[in-house]
Amino acid sequence: MLEELKRTVCEANLLLPKHRLVTLTWGNASGIDRAAGLIVIKPSGVDFEGMTPDDMVVVDLDGNVVEGSHRPSSDTPTHLELYRSFPSIGGIVHTHSRWATIFAQAGRSIPVLGTTHADHFYGEIPCTRSMMRHEIEDDYERETGRLIVETFSRTDPSDVPGVLVCAHGPFTWGADPIEAAKNAVVLEEVAFMGWHVVAIRSDLEPIERPLLDRHFRGRHGEDA
Ligand SMILES: [Zn+2]
Repeated sequence: MLEELKRTVCEANLLLPKHRLVTLTWGNASGIDRAAGLIVIKPSGVDFEGMTPDDMVVVDLDGNVVEGSHRPSSDTPTHLELYRSFPSIGGIVHTHSRWATIFAQAGRSIPVLGTTHADHFYGEIPCTRSMMRHEIEDDYERETGRLIVETFSRTDPSDVPGVLVCAHGPFTWGADPIEAAKNAVVLEEVAFMGWHVVAIRSDLEPIERPLLDRHFRGRHGEDA
């Protein structure tokens, strides 16, 4: 079932080591078939090397395994929470990519310092608040998803397709799993550049609104 989506999700997962966004098995990609109400996600603890579409796991929106010989990624409840709350998204990626995770561990959002950022993210890439003790102890992965949704209470997830979970790392999303993976690549690059720019110019302000509008709306707006 969902053979095409399994191929796409497998391909999105393989983009992560290809772009050096993952170390060992620290990362996962998923995709959703909204009509079927099913999600395809990377299996838990399986090496990226040699991974095939048949290794992908199909789960329903409650997290029950529908098909697959492996357990789904331990981050599955986070992905499910995002799919339930963000109806516009079709794919999600989570990594511990180095520079994005440095910002996440510092608890800092990534300001828009240039057009590379503005082409893909319409505003700063937010860092969540810290998780509370009961959120960590009770239903950690699902609460991580809820925390991301809370962080986007006033932001359209289509405008800013990524977040830094405080003390943890980045999640990105997109219309499909490949776009989610590309946004993970962009986020990592923007974090890398942002860190170095601020090292040279600690007083630097974010770019002006017209430049942000010009770049993001030029790519994603009615004129795109
Ligand atoms: Zn993680």
